[in-house]
This record gives sequence, structure tokens and C-alpha cells, in this order.
Amino acid sequence: MGCKDECQQNTRILFTCSGCCTEGELSDKIGRQLRKEGYARCGTSCLAGIGAGYPRFINAAREASKVIVIDGCGMTCAKRTLEKAELKPTSYVLTSMGLVDGCDQQKFIATACQQIKAAAK
Ligand code: SF4
Repeated sequence: MGCKDECQQNTRILFTCSGCCTEGELSDKIGRQLRKEGYARCGTSCLAGIGAGYPRFINAAREASKVIVIDGCGMTCAKRTLEKAELKPTSYVLTSMGLVDGCDQQKFIATACQQIKAAAK
């Protein structure tokens, strides 16, 4: 499914912290997987653009039916970035969802995706 079709069917938008540590890397992978599965759209927004204060990115997030954010750890960098733009995202934090050092990453990604999708029902 192309991005255009996906966007038309689902107005939920998803951001991830995408930090360079393992937790951030996994938040990015989980976000990509969820978008691929159609849970959320890519939107015409991006977290870096929101952090930079560009209105077009902030407005794209405001127009979404729901804003989801996945952070790797309790620092919640992505959530805080969105909140600074006065967005009120539904937040998921991977370290609060069972992510620990040495865990099976593929298994964790699959489980986290299932949990996030189940919470939307
Ligand atoms: S929330 Fe945690 S993992 Fe994500 S960018 Fe911030 S410090 Fe890194």
C-alpha cells in the first residue's frame, strides 16, 4: 500500500524519538513497522520539523485524528517535543513496556506493535 492510500484511510499519525541508542533505534523500527501495517500514517509532518517550529509540520499533526508517540526511554524526548508544540499525544515508552538490555529485539518489536495496536481498539 502506498503512502497516499494509507493516508486517505487512516488519519492517525505516529512519531518516534528515533534516538541513536538501542532504545531509540527500536522506537524507530516499531514506528516504521506500525506505519507499514497501516496502523498510522506517515503524514506530512516530522518530529524534527516540529522541534524546529515549522508551522506546516505542526499543523499537519494538529489535523490528525490522533497523535501517537513512541519513546525509547523515560526521558520521553519525542513526547516533550510534541508537547512544546501544544500537541497532546498518546504516549508509549518502550522501557515501560518491558524493554530491557539483552532482550530479543525482534520479539520485542512484534510484541510492542501488538500492544500498541490492541490499545487502539
Ligand atoms: S526518549 Fe530516550 S531513547 Fe529516545 S531519544 Fe530520548 S533519551 Fe534517546
